[in-house]
Amino acid sequence: MNVKELPPEIRAEIDPELAKPTRVHPIARSQYANLWIKREDELSSGISGGKLRKYASLIPYLKRQQIDTVGMIGGPNSNNLVGLAQLLRENGISPLAFLREAADPQLRGNALLLALLLAPHETETISRRSWDNVEGLARQRLQNLEKQGSRAHLLLEGCYGFPALLGTLTLPEDILRNERDCQQTFPRIYIDCGTGLSAIGLILGLERLLGSDSSNREVVVTLIAETESGFLEKLAEMRACLEKAYPVTHDSRVNIRFLQPILSPKFGSISKALFDECRTIARETGLIMDPTYSVKHFAAAAADHNKDGQSAAPSLFVFNGSALGICGFQDKLANSVNLLESD
Ligand SMILES: *Cc1c(COP(=O)(O)O)cnc(C)c1O
Repeated sequence: MNVKELPPEIRAEIDPELAKPTRVHPIARSQYANLWIKREDELSSGISGGKLRKYASLIPYLKRQQIDTVGMIGGPNSNNLVGLAQLLRENGISPLAFLREAADPQLRGNALLLALLLAPHETETISRRSWDNVEGLARQRLQNLEKQGSRAHLLLEGCYGFPALLGTLTLPEDILRNERDCQQTFPRIYIDCGTGLSAIGLILGLERLLGSDSSNREVVVTLIAETESGFLEKLAEMRACLEKAYPVTHDSRVNIRFLQPILSPKFGSISKALFDECRTIARETGLIMDPTYSVKHFAAAAADHNKDGQSAAPSLFVFNGSALGICGFQDKLANSVNLLESD
């Protein structure tokens, strides 16, 4: 197999120290025949999975623009806010979080981590009533800071946007490296979707890297926090941005399919079955998965993959999350574990 890498003009936008290689391995349980895991959770100890790939192009972009203050938007349980707060701090950029008012008054999980990372003056709580207008409120606040001489930049929820897309193109590049290293091809790749940016980067990157071979690949997207039409709209938008910045000569397409979560399908919702599944996955595979994204993603993807039975072609499951994601649910998980103590 010949080596397929991103072109140097895209590479130049990405910090390779952040978008590091990660490994793949199969699940050692016969009921998951030929289901492999891409260990994006190992990119960082404190940042949820593939987020680091977005930051790998976003941070260099902010530094080039000499930004000193970054406005960021999200809910109290956002993995993105916790991850960004760490990297902005590391780079001497001041974070300013526009945080949706919490339904849960207790500081736990990501809300606790965020409170640990941000001083009170770096957080502005936006009431649920005003949340629809959060972008307007944030822009206004940043404009005021700019009048006082700051160079400020507002990031959308989940860092959705072109500067973060470029870093996500390193995921397909690294998957093709894994394929060369283990002499294995993955015709089907399962990925989860919040804003969809990581899945979009996977699709657009595969098309860039594989050209006309793209049609042999299928990307299956689990819609955790987005709709099919919303995803396709964003895919078209990012494709247009990428083609404008880095023109292509071929028109290649991967096949795309969508899955709805089976367990607690509504984004952010939880259930006993979800925590029981979290326990089952840990005991069967050794993977500690966050219930918000990865457990729902795994339940949907494994069921889809297993439909093909023991003769299934190798599929790759992108584990985008992190064990840190269980922090907010310790009491619920304790229940799931205790109930089965006798077996
Ligand atoms: C943020 C996050 C996602 C969503 O990534 P998008 O690029 O916004 O779709 C998926 N899984 C986990 C665990 C995440 O933390």
